[in-house]
Amino acid sequence: MNVYLDSEACELYCEDCACEKGIAERCELYCGESDCPQHCESCDRPLGNELTNDGVDYVLAHIRDELRSGQAARNAVHGCYDKGYYAGSRHCEIVRDWAEQLGGYSLDDRDERLVDRYLNITEVKHAKG
Ligand SMILES: [Zn+2]
Repeated sequence: MNVYLDSEACELYCEDCACEKGIAERCELYCGESDCPQHCESCDRPLGNELTNDGVDYVLAHIRDELRSGQAARNAVHGCYDKGYYAGSRHCEIVRDWAEQLGGYSLDDRDERLVDRYLNITEVKHAKG
């Protein structure tokens, strides 16, 4: 996905929002790495930007916290995400998106198992039929 940097405001946007807001022209395409996953300033969509080693550690730390916090906390729906990409989503959906992004990085066995376990336990089980 193209990520647009509005350097005046120092904010990142997804392509849809940059075009919708009419700021795509004055933005530059952003392809930098960052120390945590970035989200669109307008719609909260994850931007899938490259992560530094610190960024990978940041996501792993959140996964560990989420595993400790228990299922009820992971499945809670918070009002602060009442609009945008995560509207009505479980709390864990944000960290799930980050965890899925780690698939593109080389992790040691322990961290890989951690990510797999997290994706597995937070997967939405659809009832048959
Ligand atoms: Zn957006």
